[in-house]
Amino acid sequence: MTLRISLLGATGSIGASTLAIVDQYPDRFRVVALSAHNDVAGLVTLAKKYQPEVVAISNPEHRDVLEEALRGTGVRGVSGSEGLLEIAQVQADFIMAAIVGFAGLAPTLEALKQGSRVGLANKECLVAAGDLFMGEARRYGATVLPVDSEHNAAFQLIEAHGVEELETLILTASGGPFLGQSISALENVTPEQAVKHPTWSMGQKISIDSATLMNKGLELIEAHHLFRINQGQLDVLVHPQSVVHAITVLRDGSMISHQAPADMRAPIIHCMGWPERLSPNIKRVNLADIGHLSFFEPDRDVFKCLALAEQAMKSGGAAPTALNAANEVAVGSFLKSKIGFLDIGNLVQTVMEKIIARPDSGQTFKTLDAVSAFDQEIRLIADDLVVKVSK
Ligand code: NAD
Ligand code: MG
Repeated sequence: MTLRISLLGATGSIGASTLAIVDQYPDRFRVVALSAHNDVAGLVTLAKKYQPEVVAISNPEHRDVLEEALRGTGVRGVSGSEGLLEIAQVQADFIMAAIVGFAGLAPTLEALKQGSRVGLANKECLVAAGDLFMGEARRYGATVLPVDSEHNAAFQLIEAHGVEELETLILTASGGPFLGQSISALENVTPEQAVKHPTWSMGQKISIDSATLMNKGLELIEAHHLFRINQGQLDVLVHPQSVVHAITVLRDGSMISHQAPADMRAPIIHCMGWPERLSPNIKRVNLADIGHLSFFEPDRDVFKCLALAEQAMKSGGAAPTALNAANEVAVGSFLKSKIGFLDIGNLVQTVMEKIIARPDSGQTFKTLDAVSAFDQEIRLIADDLVVKVSK
């Protein structure tokens, strides 16, 4: 049987890895809908190759260029945020949610309404609106399959032994490009240095999040919502080899770990094939070549974003939504060299202090409109701080 696949965020790093699996199994998967934000040329190349029913460019400025470029291809083009929602509504057996950031929330919530399978790479959906997101998934009977490598690993472990046996879930972190550095050494780090990840090749935003360890903090919140486990049951270990992705500690003290190649095609193919196992064309892990695996505690003083995310998870309510919005603004500003590397954590910290002091910080968001309004409000606060810092 051929499965209909939609891909939100087709031109990114996860998008490319997803399409590599489609290329490997052309009879099994048929691409029916694709989206991109700015890369019209990239989207059109994919439209010609995969002949989907419809493609969307979510930045409406590119509408005319897309329409012109699609002429004669037989592929329909749509644009803007409505266009993106249309992509999410195209009937599909599997929808890959691979847009980066809060921008992916609206179309991914829309995709859940189909009640089919959603491969979730876009962790910001769960950080910003975890209760709303998982509630909608249950309401519409959608199956959320975690694409994030640690969560995919945890999903496989928990599927094997059951969540009721679980005492602690440990997510591993590579430590990023600045592992072992002091705060002073990080002061003048450039965006080019920060995006160079030692073990994974990824989009810019997640690469910076990995360098600050915010990524691991976002992932704790992601795990909390995906597996419905509380904060006290979640932990992080730095593991620079990126071979072990997650470890479950069971109630009898047994520890079960998941190893896989540090290649996103592994968790992606797991989600696309699930509940069957397919076989990706990727190099297998050779433990003898690696020789040894090491694990240690993260340094939460140098990488304070991890501690801030843990605090946000503990506070709950609107705190993780604020954390996510402040971080997106800070990372975007760092990438444009408006603020320094250490300003990312400082800025998120200032926003968090403001929010946690507010009487409405305990609110949980019941609708997309409510969470979007709050996200916007935090972005304005963070934008002001960027202006102050960059003066
Ligand atoms: P990327 O930057 O390479 O690609 C992002 C995609 O989102 C692109 O197709 C882009 O066109 C689209 N996009 C960007 N801004 C948009 C907007 N405002 N509206 C609509 N679409 C927009 O990012 P990536 O590395 O592929 O990551 C995608 C998501 O997957 C992120 O949430 C990331 O945290 C998560 N993730 C990525 C990896 C990885 O290895 N790359 C691993 C785990 C999780
Ligand atoms: Mg991850």
